[in-house]
Parts: sequence; C-alpha cells; structure tokens
Amino acid sequence: MHSLSKTSLLNKIIIAIDGHSSCGKSTLAKAMGNALGYAYISTGDMYRAVTLYFIENQVDIKDKAAVLKALKQIKLHFVADENSNRIHLNGRDVSEEIRKMYVAELVSPVAIISEVRREMVRQQQAIGQQKGVVMDGRDIGTVVFPNAELKIFLTANVDVRAQRRFDELTAKGQHVDFAEVKNNLAERDHIDSTRADSPLRQADDAVVIDNSTLNHEQQLELALDLVRERVR
Ligand code: C5P
Repeated sequence: MHSLSKTSLLNKIIIAIDGHSSCGKSTLAKAMGNALGYAYISTGDMYRAVTLYFIENQVDIKDKAAVLKALKQIKLHFVADENSNRIHLNGRDVSEEIRKMYVAELVSPVAIISEVRREMVRQQQAIGQQKGVVMDGRDIGTVVFPNAELKIFLTANVDVRAQRRFDELTAKGQHVDFAEVKNNLAERDHIDSTRADSPLRQADDAVVIDNSTLNHEQQLELALDLVRERVR
C-alpha cells in the first residue's frame, strides 16, 4: 500500500513536479495525489485548453489586445472523476481534444505569451492556497510555488519519451508518425527551455528523477519516500 499515516497527512504540503515533455509527470502527479489524498493538477492541460480556445476562435497570438480579450472569456475548471482529472473549457470537457497533435503543435508558442502565463500562474497559485496539492508543469517549482516543500524534476531519454507518447496516441486510435511525435517533443522542449518568461529549468532545490528505466511503481515509491522525508 502506498498510503501514508494519518498524522503525516495532517501536515499538508505542496508538491511541484517539473520536467520535459512526455516524461510521465501527469501520471506520477496523479498516482501521488491518489496515494496522499491530495488534489493533482496538470498545468499543461491549462495551456493546452487555452490553445484550443485560441485555435477555435482564431485568436491572433501576436495581437496582445485580442489575447487579453480572449483570456477574459476563458473559464477553466477541473472535474475529478474516478480515473482522471478532466479539464473543462467554458463548461465543455476538452480533455481528449487537447491531447491531439494539432493542439500540441501550437501550445508552446501560446505558452510563451506573458499575458497567458500571468493568468495561468494566478489561477494555479489560487488552487494551491489550501496546500495538499500535487501540481505538474514546467515552472511550478521555480515560479508558481518557489516555496513548495517538495520539488521533483522528472526527465527521461527523448526516444523513451517519444515511444511512450506514440504508444499513448496510437492506443487512442490517433494516426501519428513516430518521427512527427519525436520532433514535436524536441521542438516543445526547445521552445519551453529557451523562452524568456519562466523557461523550463530545474529549481536549485529540486530532486531529479530520471525515469527512463523506472516503471510507475518504482517512481511512485521513490517520490513517496521524498514526501515522507518532508512531512516527518
Ligand atoms: O505538460 P504538457 O506536455 O501537456 O504541456 C504542454 C505545453 O504547455 C508544454 O510543452 C509547455 O509549452 C506548456 N506548459 C508551460 N508551463 C507549464 C505547463 C505546460 O509552459 N507549467
């Protein structure tokens, strides 16, 4: 069993998981959330939902006024069900749509925009106010929660990551090319790591987990050991 003692659960902390694209951050965040009885939030879903809105409403991302106007019209909600945390965009469940390649191809350019980041960070900080949350993304330990009690930086070899994402998309019936998936990951990592506003980087006090050769159980055990150290 992966549950921690009741006493330790009283001492709720914030857990920040950052790392490269498709290295299983959301899977780990969800497993930790379930084991600890914490909420878990994949902030990538928020950037993806904003991107979907921009695509569907033909928002010109170079037009700051249009971006600000669009942001005011976007309402995001997380709805937890048994298996996952669904994201709703203005009342519509877009959890499947946002994982498609056409959204993946545009999300990093959208996530560069400072106005978008400011609004997402504001919402993420509000969610974390009560503590007891596992949040994954690119800037959680550096910008959103610089004082998080536990910061994990997750990474894996790019071929392993591309294979995992390819398998996931193929299992959902999407027809994708392995090279296209791998290029998208590499491209997103590049944009995410080199952007001026809150680039992806490892926080100085983050613990690095390379999960190239670890299964889900092993990662979860490692991560829960880190939680035990923090809540002791
Ligand atoms: O985590 P996921 O791969 O779904 O994130 C999609 C994209 O959203 C990332 O490639 C990145 O451009 C952006 N993102 C971000 N900051 C976060 C989370 C995601 O810029 N905290």
